[in-house]
Amino acid sequence: MVSHRIGIRNNLTTVPCRSQKYGSQVTETDRNQPGNNQRRSRLYRCEGVVIRRRDFGEADRLLTLMTDNYGKIRALAKGTRRTKSRLGGHLEPYARTSVLIAKGRNLDIVTQASVIDPMHQLRMTERSILYASHWSELADKLMVEQQENRFAYGALVRALTSIEHGRAPDVTSRICEWEFLSAAGFQPELLLCTGCGARIQPGQNGLHIEAGGVVCPECHAREPQSRDISNDALRMLRAIGRGDGELLHGRDLSQVLLREVEDTLLACLRAATERDLQAYRILRELEDTQPSTNG
Ligand SMILES: [Zn+2]
Repeated sequence: MVSHRIGIRNNLTTVPCRSQKYGSQVTETDRNQPGNNQRRSRLYRCEGVVIRRRDFGEADRLLTLMTDNYGKIRALAKGTRRTKSRLGGHLEPYARTSVLIAKGRNLDIVTQASVIDPMHQLRMTERSILYASHWSELADKLMVEQQENRFAYGALVRALTSIEHGRAPDVTSRICEWEFLSAAGFQPELLLCTGCGARIQPGQNGLHIEAGGVVCPECHAREPQSRDISNDALRMLRAIGRGDGELLHGRDLSQVLLREVEDTLLACLRAATERDLQAYRILRELEDTQPSTNG
């Protein structure tokens, strides 16, 4: 089993956490009333994005939501497969939605939902839907259930909003992937050699994913598991790590560099999730057969 060392520098402290502006005012009611009737024990309100859903029973759906205040949660949306369901239209995947949820004995139940941003544009192309699906899968696989992670929620919403507004999905995705790695504590160390601790200088450095980050040329030559990383890719990853990823939009970046950064981040994500990333695989096939025009 591969062990993952968390990067020495925790970028959570240096990357501005813009997720807070997406926070909703939580009003918890009916909370913990001793001896309360089990049927209406507790309600909580939050903002969330449906990242996964599956059919449940005859007409219900079991949703997985990434939320601002409660992290990843699962909740039942009753009757939402019926065409007349009022709730269903507010619980489409990738939309930003305000939900009121009742804590159930086994499963929480969505009692109200009101869409904040339906992300209509995002649904217009197969490519943007696949990107949204890829980020949702990452959130699902990397985040721990019922553990608040506002940074991760902010990363997801920023990425969805970014392609909703027509920004280049590939750069957006690299930022989102880095932020998910950070949010889950798996961001690779990029400044100090994970072998000997030396400060990384321009040169033929390597990336040793199992060791948690870059290695200097000497350690790279000794370590068969490390792979080459170019100086430009390292610079781009550091820019994203500093929170300057948005500045990369509109820059004339070579396809070779973009692909190297993509492959690097995806290798880190596969190691972190220890699983195949299905949406990415389909997305990659699409990008290989119909390359994006960066818009
Ligand atoms: Zn070294």
